Amino acid sequence: MKRRPIADHRTEVAAHVAGLARTETIPVTSGLDRVTSRIVRAPYTLPLFDNSAMDGFAVRAADVTVGQPLPVRGRIFAGDAKSRTLQGGTAMAIMTGAPLPRRADAVIPVEQSDEADGAVRFQHRPEPGAFVRRAGDDVAVGDLVVAAGTRLGPRHLGALAASGVPTIEAHRRPTVAVISTGSELIRPGQKPEPGQIFESNSLVLQSLSAKHGAQVTFVAAARDDGDFETILTAACIDADLVLTSGGVSMGEREPVRQLLGDHGWFGPIAMQPGGPQGLATWKDTPVCCFPGNPVSILVSFEVLLRDALRAVTGLPPVEPSTAPLARKVASAPGKTQFLRGVRNPDGTVSPVGGPGSHLAITAAAADLLIEIETDATELAAGTEVTTWPLT
Ligand code: AMP
Ligand code: MG
Repeated sequence: MKRRPIADHRTEVAAHVAGLARTETIPVTSGLDRVTSRIVRAPYTLPLFDNSAMDGFAVRAADVTVGQPLPVRGRIFAGDAKSRTLQGGTAMAIMTGAPLPRRADAVIPVEQSDEADGAVRFQHRPEPGAFVRRAGDDVAVGDLVVAAGTRLGPRHLGALAASGVPTIEAHRRPTVAVISTGSELIRPGQKPEPGQIFESNSLVLQSLSAKHGAQVTFVAAARDDGDFETILTAACIDADLVLTSGGVSMGEREPVRQLLGDHGWFGPIAMQPGGPQGLATWKDTPVCCFPGNPVSILVSFEVLLRDALRAVTGLPPVEPSTAPLARKVASAPGKTQFLRGVRNPDGTVSPVGGPGSHLAITAAAADLLIEIETDATELAAGTEVTTWPLT
């Protein structure tokens, strides 16, 4: 059977999940890591009013002579609502963030003053504007607060809250269900009986999905001999997208391919690891079917689904880079190889671990994928190769 080129399959995957893109209104308080779908502009001028940057005394700079006392006529605290006016030749005690009284033009910090018997003396003469935060210093009404397409971090949330914005428009995080298949699989913590292995793929798919903008709402494990259909149907009711692991190759018990073969496309793609792939629709829900080897799962997600999922969640694609190979690499022709690799201090990249798709633990030492083109059979040391960060 002819292998489907990776680029073609990637396009099919993108088309399969494109319908998940939506936007929604959310409270800023749940905005961490969400991606804005619309620009946010300032609804207010900020600061909202002239106020003091220090605890000290509000004065008119021209009234101050070093060492000469000014009578203190009142005290203004943060949150005081009453509008106050400074009389000529007097000072008012003022706290940080309190509204500057009318006709005052400077604040002298308490550290540079001596207050006694209802009057205050100053050690310096202030410049007009000293320690005054002017209304509008930060933003004017309509100025940009956060651009569309921003993944909101703490600083953006702070800016939104400080602007008085309660809700934003964000890309919706599609819900994802993850189903691992295999009668040999047990959970970490269980004792392996003969023939059993620890299930790891669902955790990889869950964490990659969450990292790239989705919310995982359903995780289950199916045996190869019976319950996959029931579990898949439940997953489709729960989630916008279902990811399955295992059961897509040419064996005699391949529950995913056997159930979904007539509901989509299954076949080999020109990629190693991760050759056998499937895409199907079940109960109107898109299902991406990955092969079960742990390294295949990682590579399948990163190469085929990652950027498509990021696109529907408003995130930009992950950019590749290039680097020279540290040593000669041999490759099987006819498939694009994705070797697990590391970047060396001199900027070259080296494969790590063996080529086997079952080598989950050695693959964890890698921080990037090295892409070896379809037709290459041997690449000399120093050859520039495309590398992809492992996210
Ligand atoms: P399959 O694609 O179902 O033929 O599985 C390929 C290989 O990956 C087999 O050796 C499985 O035991 C292993 N495998 C399948 N699913 C998982 C999983 N969820 N976690 C770890 N290994 C798995
Ligand atoms: Mg299996």
